[in-house]
Amino acid sequence: MELRLHDTLSREKRPFVPLDAKNVRMYVCGPTVYDFAHIGNARPVIVFDVLFRLLRHLYGEAHVKYVRNITDVDDKINDRAARDFPGLPLNEAIRKVTEQTGQQFHADVDALGALRPSVEPRATEHIGEMREIIERLVKGGFAYVAEDHVLFSPQAMNADKTGLPRYGALSNRSLDEMVAGARVDVAPYKKGNTDFVLWKPSKPGEPSWPSPAGIKAEGRPGWHIECSAMAWKHLGEHFDIHGGGIDLVFPHHENEVAQTCCAFHQQRMANYWMHNGFLQVESEKMSKSLGNFITIHELLADWPGEVLRLNMLKTHYRSPIDWTMKSLEESAKTLDDWYRLAADVEPGKPAASVVEPLLDDLNTPLAIAALHGLRGDVAALAGSLRLLGFLSESAGQWESRKQQASGVDAGEVERLIAERTAARSRKDFGESDRIRDLLAAMGVAIKDSKDGTTWEVAR
Ligand code: AMP
Ligand code: ZN
Repeated sequence: MELRLHDTLSREKRPFVPLDAKNVRMYVCGPTVYDFAHIGNARPVIVFDVLFRLLRHLYGEAHVKYVRNITDVDDKINDRAARDFPGLPLNEAIRKVTEQTGQQFHADVDALGALRPSVEPRATEHIGEMREIIERLVKGGFAYVAEDHVLFSPQAMNADKTGLPRYGALSNRSLDEMVAGARVDVAPYKKGNTDFVLWKPSKPGEPSWPSPAGIKAEGRPGWHIECSAMAWKHLGEHFDIHGGGIDLVFPHHENEVAQTCCAFHQQRMANYWMHNGFLQVESEKMSKSLGNFITIHELLADWPGEVLRLNMLKTHYRSPIDWTMKSLEESAKTLDDWYRLAADVEPGKPAASVVEPLLDDLNTPLAIAALHGLRGDVAALAGSLRLLGFLSESAGQWESRKQQASGVDAGEVERLIAERTAARSRKDFGESDRIRDLLAAMGVAIKDSKDGTTWEVAR
């Protein structure tokens, strides 16, 4: 069976044919590093990690290149830096915020079992490429300078008759309707009300770089140009897959396509555009004001990362997810069961019943259903779990991480069990029951057998 992927641009599932099977190339928009990543941000990380693993399985590890950027220049970063480090010069404060947040992001996504991408470019290290694309756009008549800004004109793009894609095609919008519906309070230097910023002047103290297109004042890039530049540098003018959350289709990805295709005179930027659906929490949109905003970091204090991973993959990536405590508890039970069966087993080949649904546009719910059917073939279960990014560590570590995540102190548990064994041997069943209840209240279930008492964290 061949791999088929849903493409947002053509709005259909198509067989995946790489431009070069020896060098399969995927770009996914990464985080803007100013705060802890929330559980919604974990969704593209996990979904595209599964795709990365599947592509490596199909084409060979050496033949897949996965680029996920880090956006380290942004107004939100500047605001956070000024707030958190008021005593420091802004640029130093910004470096602190981006370094700390970047490290935290890595710790979070490592715990979720996501492989590091092949390259993790930082926007601030690609300013030269951004300037070059902007120069090309100005020369080609697609962008213009106004009051030290450089602006891209979607109307200039759509006036071109040389075979460029249509602005609006990816997000299925009409430029005429966008023009008609645009806000009236558009910045005065814009010629058209849908023109967007490629480059803008920096305020005093803000990060700034020499500007393109003959602008004397130093400035900084707009958001969309960053991804066009990093994708170009690491994957070329035209590559296979571009991914991100559904909220990025417009304007971010529409503008990326416009910039890249106009600068390099390409008909396409990526051959497949893939977007994950949104995540909400207990049936509500996640937001700070509703108080249901959960970070990956907070969840990892209560659950091993693989539980979060499994819980995410139980829903197909294009559907919305309702993230609930109940579903997390079920995921923890399921995983515990699989790890008991498969942790000490030499992984075999992933089962066809698991691989086939994955080939059908990453149908992870069906792949997970198939895992339930592999109890009788634990080698295939182990191999299939590996393919999905589970079981990278041994069972012993799984037990201890589970205990750690649930805040159970193993030494204390052992001590209480020894006390209970002593109480039982002197037939003090009142005391022995008291200790059992105490352990249960700590979330620990015990089991007596002729070989002694074993225990586990019960959820
Ligand atoms: P941001 O840092 O907000 O640009 O988001 C980083 C990535 O997370 C992007 O691919 C977003 O589309 C994605 N994302 C943000 N919020 C959610 C959410 N609630 N559910 C799913 N994906 C999200
Ligand atoms: Zn991007």
